[in-house]
Amino acid sequence: MPETEGPALLTVDLAAIAANYRLLVEKAAPAEAAPAVKADAYGLGMAEVAPALHRAGARSFFVAWLAEGIRLRGILPDATIYVLNGLEPGRAAAYAAHRLAPCLDSRETIEEWLAATPGAPAALHLDTGISRLGLPPEEWAALAAEPGLIARLAPVLVMSHLASADDPKDPMNARQRALFLAAVRTLGLERRVPLSLANSGGIFLGPDFHLDMVRPGAAIYGLAPLTGHPNPMRQPVRLQAKILQVRRVDTGMTVGYGATHRTTRPSLLATISAGYADGIFRALGNRGHACLGAVRVPMVGRVSMDLLTLDVTDAPKALVRRGAWVDLIGPAQTVDDLAAAAGTIGYEVLTALGSRYPRRYLDDRAAG
Ligand SMILES: *Cc1c(COP(=O)(O)O)cnc(C)c1O
Repeated sequence: MPETEGPALLTVDLAAIAANYRLLVEKAAPAEAAPAVKADAYGLGMAEVAPALHRAGARSFFVAWLAEGIRLRGILPDATIYVLNGLEPGRAAAYAAHRLAPCLDSRETIEEWLAATPGAPAALHLDTGISRLGLPPEEWAALAAEPGLIARLAPVLVMSHLASADDPKDPMNARQRALFLAAVRTLGLERRVPLSLANSGGIFLGPDFHLDMVRPGAAIYGLAPLTGHPNPMRQPVRLQAKILQVRRVDTGMTVGYGATHRTTRPSLLATISAGYADGIFRALGNRGHACLGAVRVPMVGRVSMDLLTLDVTDAPKALVRRGAWVDLIGPAQTVDDLAAAAGTIGYEVLTALGSRYPRRYLDDRAAG
């Protein structure tokens, strides 16, 4: 059992993250695989994860915010860094000073960029159906009619984002790909600029979707790239909390705030040191499970801020004692499993991981 200074512990296996990245590199080759490390590497820690990915061969990275790009630049002085959320108003000089390429997503941001930082590298973001960021199809023709603008911008990458990449059966994927390639032709950029369309799911849609660069995030961190399909990725995350108290209760006792659980037999309850402040969503109350070794035990009652209670009546007695570790995420329950129980997706579980518990990183350089 790991030594820790607290009653909960997050372990991040950098070797598993590196292995996941290498699997995606293999799958996407000859396209370049450029990891998404936005939101603090999906909650797992950019300062540790980005260097591990760099050691595994990654040379280009995606973040969402300018501030994330500046932070990543301090960690990886030589990497190519793209900022997905585009150009923050009035901040063009800061991108250029840190050699960050914004993914320009509108006529307005293109013009602001060219006026403020002529010649600095930028990517061009086209919207092919997600209606979030990116130049919408209505604007492609006007942009193409002004060849001077695109020529002056000379984007270093043209990208778009798939709305339904986790579902290979969704015809939207092929539609978006066709629209993207048509836009690139319309803009006169065919074979002149590297193209990027695929996130994690997109990599598993097949080589047609790889183009020149893929942008995996989720799969690197162990989430299933295709919903409802077997997950080929290794699990780098383990979240453990200690049992703080074990108690025997009679039939008919209520558990937790709002007394939403009532025991229907004499029960053994274990209260552990994890709650919604630690990223264990309140929605898991009376629905989620934790694991004592390989034994699944149900969460009973509501999840509170710092605590939750498990019904361990059926668990092996030897495992149920004060100070014993319980897995909330681990070998027997993946991030995706916990997310499903909470009615959400693994992305939200990862990015909601708490900042209170110590974090332990297993070194990707140990033992080859
Ligand atoms: C977050 C993001 C990615 C990575 O997506 P995953 O589904 O995590 O692989 C790629 N491209 C864009 C535009 C994104 O916002």
